[in-house]
Amino acid sequence: MRVDVVSIFPAYLEPLQLSLIGKAREQALLDLAVHDLRDFTHDRHRTVDDTPYGGGPGMVMRPEPWGAALDHVEAAGRTALDRPDASPYLLVPSPSGTPFTQAMAHQLADEPWLAFACGRYEGIDERVVEDAASRWRVTPISLGDYVLNGGEVAVLAIVEAVARLLPGVVGNAESLVEESHEDGLLEYPVYTKPASWRGRDVPDVLLSGHHGAIARWRHEQRLARTASRRPDLLDPSARISPPPNPDPG
Ligand code: SAM
Repeated sequence: MRVDVVSIFPAYLEPLQLSLIGKAREQALLDLAVHDLRDFTHDRHRTVDDTPYGGGPGMVMRPEPWGAALDHVEAAGRTALDRPDASPYLLVPSPSGTPFTQAMAHQLADEPWLAFACGRYEGIDERVVEDAASRWRVTPISLGDYVLNGGEVAVLAIVEAVARLLPGVVGNAESLVEESHEDGLLEYPVYTKPASWRGRDVPDVLLSGHHGAIARWRHEQRLARTASRRPDLLDPSARISPPPNPDPG
């Protein structure tokens, strides 16, 4: 997968060199390029913002550097992918965007090429999104119902959630299947050694070796945890049946 990120703070994306995502880049499972928006300005101060038309507080990101930066992303990505007609799927982080979910992470993991436009200040001049949408698929995307200072933190989260779904990035692909949000329920509590710690014991059933009983206990825990922490997820029309008992009796 190719990913291009445009930001005025390229250093913000440096954590994407670490851990599993860093390894995925070394193994060429993920080709990630970060572009400095200020490289596409032409004035001495490398200006990217200006006052809003119509008045009001704050500054708005000017369209010219964004237009040039996204043109560059298109050219660089086409060369990297060796696909002269390809276009990126542009995601524009915004608190007014579509909420990002695990289902969306799966959809994005099937895309060959993603690009991200990280806004700052009061956001990016709307014509940048309109211009991009006249050529590419574009989706404003929100990390959640709160306001960040810029799109970079959203990109870190989205790229990590998407890249770990790419084949080969997470060593044990089975570990992806049972996770929270994969089927609408949260994950069950997990434990490791020692069996007793500070007077707290691991639930007996997990030490029983009885796979059927463990599967049932985990399902009950998932339902209880979801009901208490995220009742909004327990939509009756999306109710999930318990796993089959592999070890009857
Ligand atoms: N004035 C904008 C509004 O009220 O919708 C908020 C601008 S915010 C201070 C600056 C930038 O941070 C946005 O352009 C966007 O890139 C990013 N951002 C802020 N909150 C976000 C969120 N919840 N999800 C994704 N990106 C966010």
